[in-house]
Amino acid sequence: MVVLSSPSGVGKTTIANLLSQRSKNFKISISHTTRSPRINELDGKDYYFVNKDKFKALIKNNSFFEHAEVFGNLYGTTKEAVVKKLNKGVNILFDIDWQGTKQLEKQKLDYKIVTFFILPPSKEVLKERLSNRDMKDKLIVNERMSQFKSDIIHWKEYDYIVINNDLEKCYNQIKEIIVSESKGLKKNIDIENIEGKIQELIN
Ligand code: 5GP
Repeated sequence: MVVLSSPSGVGKTTIANLLSQRSKNFKISISHTTRSPRINELDGKDYYFVNKDKFKALIKNNSFFEHAEVFGNLYGTTKEAVVKKLNKGVNILFDIDWQGTKQLEKQKLDYKIVTFFILPPSKEVLKERLSNRDMKDKLIVNERMSQFKSDIIHWKEYDYIVINNDLEKCYNQIKEIIVSESKGLKKNIDIENIEGKIQELIN
């Protein structure tokens, strides 16, 4: 289980897509959500888009590995979507937030779990990336920027912290760590550099 979390707009979905496109052994877990689809998003590909009643029924049936409210919408990973693949030895990529990551870890499942927290190179770059999305609505950009600080404080809960300065470099770093971890080896992270970056981002 490979978890990729980050404040919104840092590029984790792009990285997850690269991992799954370039290696047959990586598949992305498709979450359920109650949020509306963005332009270009497809039901069953990007998310399973459901209404609140359907989501609540899935909670009641104990169908979720984890679920959380993010930006006022519900998001969750169903067991059905991933268990079969995990049992076949496929690496599953989870693009989920810190709340979901905590829930997955708490369950102490039989699958190895490696968690990544991805940082933007700067707040300015993040704002630019969010503004370039299909969501033209400035309110959403501002809402997600103001959420940034409360997301970023969770970085310590992750195994690895990587900075998405350059997409290919970030991809390679994550891929290398996954390969090492699959051999039972831990990679060192430059904690001083990361702490410095966090300070810079929250100030
Ligand atoms: P977005 O609406 O931009 O696609 O996603 C918003 C946030 O929800 C992102 O941080 C994303 O990682 C998180 N998210 C997406 N799917 C899930 C999920 O199944 N569970 C949890 N806990 N978070 C999710």
